[in-house]
Amino acid sequence: MSLLEVENLVVRYPGAPRAAVEDLSFSVEAGDSVALAGESGSGKTQTALALMGLSPVEAVVEGTARFDGQNLFTATPSARRALSARGIAMIFQDPSSALNPHLTIARQLMIVLDEHGLAKGQEAKERVVRMLERTGLPDPERQARAYPWQLSGGMRQRVMIASALLTEPKLLIADEPTTALDATVQAQILVLIRELQHETGVALLLVTHDFGVIANSTERLIVIDGGKALEAGDTASIIVTPKHEQTRRMLDACRLNNRNVEAPTETEPVLEASGLSVVYHERPLGRIWHRQSLAAVNPTDLCLRRGETLSVVGESGCGKSSLARALLGLVATEGGTVSYLGKRLPAQIRQRNRKSKTALQMVFQDPTGSLDPSWRISRSVAEPLRGVPAATRASQVAEAFERVGLAAELHRRYPHQLSGGQAQRAAIARALVNKPDVLVCDEAVAALDAPTRQDVLSLLLREQQDHGLSILFISHDLSVVQRLSHRLLVMYLGSVVESGPSSEIFKRPRHPYTRALLDAMLTVDARPQSPSLLDGEPPSPLLPPSGCPFHPRCRYVEKRCRVERPVLRPVGGEAVACHRAEAIDLANDNY
Ligand code: SF4
Repeated sequence: MSLLEVENLVVRYPGAPRAAVEDLSFSVEAGDSVALAGESGSGKTQTALALMGLSPVEAVVEGTARFDGQNLFTATPSARRALSARGIAMIFQDPSSALNPHLTIARQLMIVLDEHGLAKGQEAKERVVRMLERTGLPDPERQARAYPWQLSGGMRQRVMIASALLTEPKLLIADEPTTALDATVQAQILVLIRELQHETGVALLLVTHDFGVIANSTERLIVIDGGKALEAGDTASIIVTPKHEQTRRMLDACRLNNRNVEAPTETEPVLEASGLSVVYHERPLGRIWHRQSLAAVNPTDLCLRRGETLSVVGESGCGKSSLARALLGLVATEGGTVSYLGKRLPAQIRQRNRKSKTALQMVFQDPTGSLDPSWRISRSVAEPLRGVPAATRASQVAEAFERVGLAAELHRRYPHQLSGGQAQRAAIARALVNKPDVLVCDEAVAALDAPTRQDVLSLLLREQQDHGLSILFISHDLSVVQRLSHRLLVMYLGSVVESGPSSEIFKRPRHPYTRALLDAMLTVDARPQSPSLLDGEPPSPLLPPSGCPFHPRCRYVEKRCRVERPVLRPVGGEAVACHRAEAIDLANDNY
């Protein structure tokens, strides 16, 4: 008998044209690793919620889901609670919404043990600290006294995993557990889940759209679309020889190829920065008179040429978004200059003239940031054309919609009536309507599933080829960056540590941090991978390490690195900030 046996599962919502999940059947054996894969809206999360008894009240759930022989859908509320307590646990994409910000980590986890009658008081506290230690949380006794908002995203996800495993469940349902994390932290969390599975024998049902994660974490795979199973079987076999066209499409979208095109060196510089720095002056919580300074971007030079894509990469908090916003005059700068077509621009956007504002446009991760939820998208796209005669405005809006490939029947919809990909196309249409020279994309495809992401990237490439658009692409996802970039700028703790032609850096990284980022990239290749893990997470910019800011995480560290900060200097056609750039051979070293 299987640990979990789902038969003919149906989840429907009254009034919806079709069921969210339709006649879905699959099983999970004890100790198994199974992926439930599909694009957004495929029904995978609805399936997970139904299994956990967390479907919205209006949802109608039919079929059977036998766990350890007991039907979850007909169990009494108390039997169901008992099953959830000791049998099935769930971890979510966003740990911050699952943790109570008002309670310390220890308190929240002790409540879990207490509620399930497993331990109280000192015994519960000790079990919590032991479990936090098992999930690799540094200094678990101290972190147990912290509040969720005092921890990084990766640490919070470790706490969620500790909370889920405290009750020693037989099945762990993980819904996009690493989607919100940096590649380096994602690699650490996936290895952690694998190790804990090995130690405890817990079965894993991984719900995700990311085939890189699936290929590296599961043995069996069920691909669903429109709420129905398309194919199921051994993960490695499906990835190598998918039978269904839709599976092939999803896999192809994950296999983004290197652009491998030389940067257009002869073109004129469009956007330049010299010594640009950003410092945030913050008031710590509860300290009214005290202010602390956080150097988000240390003095940085940058040059973006016409028709070129320059990507800025690094883990969350490395300063890449602050740098983009400083270029556009959206945050106060501490020093340095920004020039457009050789002319220096005022630091603040409100002091810049209409021409330069029009020429530099931005697209954000969440399109709702630029689309007014109460306006139809045609009005939002037309809004930057204030003052333009109505007839010209209408034709420019129509042209912008055509350029981004948004069908005419969608133009009069509100943002919430569009899918993520359609809303992002509308946001790009708004940014392009005035024919800018530069598009700054801040994690613009991070929230999209693989096929939609590929469509949006193709759209940006087409715009560049047809209209000579220059793109500054901010991303933590190196597989996307590889597809799009001519040149790369790698940032760590507010400073550029490596810059140069993208194809060169991907072939031969020269800074240990760049190599670690490349190692953390997960691919859909079926061969098992063991990403080299970068220890820990970036230090706080409030307390930067002495010498090389990367030294506490660098395996090549030597005495000099701890005291002397390396400067960015030319090394073999690139610029690298590492004392040992010439001495270490990162391309061939088994890091
Ligand atoms: Fe590592 Fe030293 Fe280079 Fe910094 S300077 S990256 S610590 S080898």
